Amino acid sequence: MQIPPFTLNRQYQEIGSEIETEVFKVLKGGQYIGGKEITKFEENFSKLIGVNNTIGCNSGTDALVLALRALDIGEGDEVITTSFSFFATAEAISIVGATPILVDIDPETYLINTELIEQEINSNTKAIMPVHLFGNAVNMTLIKSLADKYDLKVIEDCAQATCTMWENSRVGSIGDIGCFSFFPTKNLGAAGDAGAVTTSDQKIAKKIRELAIHGSPKRYHHNEIGYNSRLDTIQAAILNIKIKYISKWINNRQIIANNYFDLLEKNPFICLPKISSNSTNHSWNQFVIKLRNEKYFLNEDFLNLFETDFEKYCTLRNLVKHQLFKKGINSIIYYPIPIHAQIAYKNKNFSRKKLINTERICTEVLSLPMFPEISYEEQVYVANNLNKVLENCIEEIQISA
Ligand SMILES: *Cc1c(COP(=O)(O)O)cnc(C)c1O
Repeated sequence: MQIPPFTLNRQYQEIGSEIETEVFKVLKGGQYIGGKEITKFEENFSKLIGVNNTIGCNSGTDALVLALRALDIGEGDEVITTSFSFFATAEAISIVGATPILVDIDPETYLINTELIEQEINSNTKAIMPVHLFGNAVNMTLIKSLADKYDLKVIEDCAQATCTMWENSRVGSIGDIGCFSFFPTKNLGAAGDAGAVTTSDQKIAKKIRELAIHGSPKRYHHNEIGYNSRLDTIQAAILNIKIKYISKWINNRQIIANNYFDLLEKNPFICLPKISSNSTNHSWNQFVIKLRNEKYFLNEDFLNLFETDFEKYCTLRNLVKHQLFKKGINSIIYYPIPIHAQIAYKNKNFSRKKLINTERICTEVLSLPMFPEISYEEQVYVANNLNKVLENCIEEIQISA
């Protein structure tokens, strides 16, 4: 059996003809920028998230950049976030000229450790950027209370968390601004790059709209240096179809996650993902397990430490990944290298000691195949092989240790 980590083929089999109809309508209609598909999607998405405004844009990365710019965050400012995320989270902060302050994660939820945030706040701190990683919600009650106490803005990175809830609210409606990605592998995916910003603040919404179109409130009038970051009309048309199915797909992801819990919970060598306590609607963009790396030392050479080639760095995780691959099961590592260890940030001198859980977790995590259409039989095949392979790998590790 061959099991992909993610595939869109099955989804396309179900709704492809519906998508083709709408795409051809746009093509024949001749309006490729702006128009009613955009307005309709922005209304649909606002309703889904529970905000007054959605502004479609080019990507999730652009959404983050637009959010930071709209809050006047730039040179000399600091934004607190996590080192265990897709690179774009910190990159957006750097793009606007501000400094990302990277805080360590909770090793069980993989989310920013909210207890470590307060000690990083100083007079340069302008915002907190929590990342609802893998679809699991950060404790927004705590983030909001810190923001209130120190008069900070909150930008939620919801790229992996469309439909995730914290208590009774959808993420993206809790902070000042929510940033979403519709990259094809996200919970709601376009057929290419796309993203959106959500906010209930009218002034911020207006500013983001302008920034996304060359800082222009009116055609050929430019108040600021902005961006060319629109949501394409074709992508909006596709998203208007897909958004009708999002509740069903999230529901499937939750069933699939529960199946993995049932199938794997008896194995003492697998650490299953922990749902943060008031994360009431985990959307399971990824199902990420942890395989202990007993060999982790802080002083280890960087390149060896984050080497994913199992022959070069024989961690339990790397061995298991390789053995699963031989059985036709394709797992993925999100993320093999933390942001602070990326070459792009080599001159920033982030404290590795402060980010010790992030570093260790990067050597332990493994994302199992997860997409709404995976069958129970396929999940059983993954689980059975994982259990079997793990037994062999542990023996092998012990022999080689
Ligand atoms: C995907 C992702 C982004 C960037 O979104 P793009 O649409 O690819 O630009 C940002 N943050 C996180 C956490 C992501 O997963």
